[in-house]
Amino acid sequence: MKVLLDTCRLPGRNSENVQLTISPSGEIEALDDRESPAEGTLIEDYALPGMPNLHSHAFQRVMAGQAESAMKNKDDFWSWREIMYDYANRVTPEQLQAIAAQLYMEMLKSGYTSVAEFHYLHHAGRRRPGLPSTETADAIIAAAEETGIGLTLLPALYMTADFDKPEPAPRQGRFINDMESFFSLFERLRNRENDNIKTGIAFHSLRAVPARRLRETLKILADERIDCPIHIHIAETLKEVETCTRLKRLSPVKWLFENIDIDHRWCLVHATHLTDWEVEKLAKSDCVAGLCPTTEANLGDGIFRFEEYINANGKFGIGSDSHISVNPVEELRWLEYGQRLISNRRNISATAGERRVGSFLWDNAVSGGAQALGRNIDGLKPGNRADLLALDGDHPLLYDKQAPDMLNSFIFSGNDNLVKHVMVGGKWVIKDGAHIHEEEILARFKKTIRELNQ
Ligand SMILES: [Zn+2]
Repeated sequence: MKVLLDTCRLPGRNSENVQLTISPSGEIEALDDRESPAEGTLIEDYALPGMPNLHSHAFQRVMAGQAESAMKNKDDFWSWREIMYDYANRVTPEQLQAIAAQLYMEMLKSGYTSVAEFHYLHHAGRRRPGLPSTETADAIIAAAEETGIGLTLLPALYMTADFDKPEPAPRQGRFINDMESFFSLFERLRNRENDNIKTGIAFHSLRAVPARRLRETLKILADERIDCPIHIHIAETLKEVETCTRLKRLSPVKWLFENIDIDHRWCLVHATHLTDWEVEKLAKSDCVAGLCPTTEANLGDGIFRFEEYINANGKFGIGSDSHISVNPVEELRWLEYGQRLISNRRNISATAGERRVGSFLWDNAVSGGAQALGRNIDGLKPGNRADLLALDGDHPLLYDKQAPDMLNSFIFSGNDNLVKHVMVGGKWVIKDGAHIHEEEILARFKKTIRELNQ
């Protein structure tokens, strides 16, 4: 298949008259922007690479907006978590699939073309020690397949309630695995891999995974020569940092760097509370900071030290995490605005090489997100998946804009959804703003909401 892009964003630059040759399996076989294109489907609207969403807990979509009433004097992450546990303990695999399908459809419509699902809602019924539970992971895969979004599924190891509480709380029961059942699940998921679906691993957090289990897991990956993404929640709240510092004598990120070989496979999700040393160390490592600005704002977590981090050439990507917002534009906008609010300055996310904030943010979040997902999706180039968006060039916010200004306008000019068409792996899944299976997915989601509200 050949697609002609009138104007588009290639890695680090804009171009015109680009011809993509896409293989039947959905890969960009050739990209030609030098000669006059001769054939193919013409996309007149500005085209850009789809955004990887590097952090998602799909089931949390149903509680968006449900935790915004004050419950006690000082609500915080931990009081929100109690509401989250309530939903986590009620959702069935069938309901999870309906929720995830609606969520992934919303992601596609807003410009995310792939997602890393940080999956810890493992058990549908009673846990069977030593045996894997696959029903909920199967539900996530089914939702990705029916919507067409690219998926990196990260089964999360979750074992303890806190740094000094080895026994999980009863309400954490659905999250718990022993090493045997965890690796059995991991192997089964690896057997499901294809062009659109990849498997990685997540450690829920340092408070939920004992150090020796973390090391044991990494040793198994090394012994088996498995090179897959590894994600972890880290330094999200001050309480977590204080407890870790008190009990392990090191803050969480410092503990990680002093005890584990952190390399390109790793994505450190949140990393909100960092010392100067940790900012520098994280930026100089080959890993990705997984930033979720709307969730971090919603939970009152804090603000990532983004300006210092990008000045030290740190890699980053974005995630919608708890899904109180499902839109890469809003994540990137808040990433920039957080820095403006604390520095009293403007246009923080830019470098000498790329002075346009929108272009800097989109390009870098695409490449960092691709690395975190472990998939070949870092922009429009040969060998990568054909994952792209076309923006609505006729919309008043984009009308008659020149290519160099498109990403600035896309991210910083308003709240209408400007994404018109979306292609994932060479297939158009969103056409004129609608998903190809929109009505069916929405009907199942509504049914699920009614069930959960009963
Ligand atoms: Zn998370």
